[in-house]
Amino acid sequence: MLLEWFDRIAGSRRSMKTWDHIPLVGEMAAEHARRSPRSATVDRTAKRHLVDGGSHTLRLLQPFPPRIATAKGGWLTDEDGHRILDFWQGHMANILGHNPDIVTTELASVFAEGFGLQSGLADRLQAEVAEIICRQTGVDRVRLTTSGTLANMYAVMLARAFTGRSLVMKVGGGWHGAQPWSLKGIRFRDDGSGFGGVDTDGLAPAMTDEVIVTRFNDPLRLADDFDRLGDRVACFVVEPLIGAGGTIPATREYLELARELCHRYGALLIFDEVISGFRFHAGTLGALYGVRPDLTVLGKIVGGGMPVAAFAGRADIMDQLGREQGCRVNVSGGTYSAHPASMLAAKTQLAHLVDDEQEIYPRLADLGAAMRKAVESGFAEGGVLARCTGDSDDLPTGSSLFMVHFPHDEASVLNTPEAVFDPEVCDQILREKVLGLALLLEDVNVVLAHGAAAREHTEDDMTFLEEACRRVARRVARFR
Ligand code: PMP
Repeated sequence: MLLEWFDRIAGSRRSMKTWDHIPLVGEMAAEHARRSPRSATVDRTAKRHLVDGGSHTLRLLQPFPPRIATAKGGWLTDEDGHRILDFWQGHMANILGHNPDIVTTELASVFAEGFGLQSGLADRLQAEVAEIICRQTGVDRVRLTTSGTLANMYAVMLARAFTGRSLVMKVGGGWHGAQPWSLKGIRFRDDGSGFGGVDTDGLAPAMTDEVIVTRFNDPLRLADDFDRLGDRVACFVVEPLIGAGGTIPATREYLELARELCHRYGALLIFDEVISGFRFHAGTLGALYGVRPDLTVLGKIVGGGMPVAAFAGRADIMDQLGREQGCRVNVSGGTYSAHPASMLAAKTQLAHLVDDEQEIYPRLADLGAAMRKAVESGFAEGGVLARCTGDSDDLPTGSSLFMVHFPHDEASVLNTPEAVFDPEVCDQILREKVLGLALLLEDVNVVLAHGAAAREHTEDDMTFLEEACRRVARRVARFR
């Protein structure tokens, strides 16, 4: 009897995870085509010349993305004239909102003087940006580059050279850019293998074999993995708040253990703070946790809306890049590294974040709380259970980040990537295949159900978001 009942429950859970979303997506796609003919036309042309019609897969909502014409603060306008409330905010880089006056006026004035594109030279600006980063994050040395991907790859090269070891440990769900030591353990497979697999073709197996995938927020598993492999591990790369992997803050216990294990086994601890750097205060999230990594990777916000990233850390590790050691770790090159216009944007925004830290970050945290509440209550009013990650009691301060999940059970604990990406725990179809287009039809932009509040968002924007979620929930409820 009991077994039969368990089977029935299991069966009903399975059916929850595989509902037929095709009619819903068909209805939405037709509506999207009707109300956005110009974006549709641009998309057709774009697809002739660009793979899938663009240059970053995440941005290419299916069946076609809105083509953005203008952006200011929290809002976008597309080619069809829709005003869209944006929570993607430049991959979460635009902490002050799109095109903040403080940065654009500075750039406009130097461009008017004929300054800003004289790249390929040494100048004062990059020294000033580096000084702010070192002062605010407590690192000895920083190297500026153009993407978080490169910065992560270089950090791993430094760690491997410094330790003379080969293994790179990362967590399942951890995204560190599309570079050789990161393209494993990204996509959750529901065939029982979880995050174990390699997520690209084109790499030498010997290279991906060197990447060890452990579990985020799982101290026992981390200790076990170090126990087995620790004396071969060059570095453990982890985000203090995992972004694409579920937007989940690490527990303090997990980060402290990571620090201790890296010390004990002689591995380097690398914090990938591409998302979290300057997001929670004018510095790193690691510092707020009180955990000091050996290397830190920065990106997004540090660029002030321009392509800037950095890796930084202890002098004895970083100096392997330098002439005194014969540039033994060779990261030379980078035509646009420390580009002067980018440096000016970076310096202007960073200085503003430092100067107005006391005003900006509490405001962002309030907006973040209102944003997560708006999503949860909007969906609840429409009859759909939604939960936002992005904050937790472990996080030392409030949060302006969110990812939306649709757990089958109210009691589900969403504190690991394994929980949020397991279709047995959360409805992946709704999050991945439905939500983006459904919200866009309500004039709200999110990408893969996550994003951030920007300083320019308002309380009214959160009411707009709540109403949008309520209407999405009602639409979904007709099909799910
Ligand atoms: N690390 C993390 C944590 C990221 O979120 C990203 C980008 N989303 C990257 C690295 C890669 O940065 P970029 O896109 O600038 O190459």
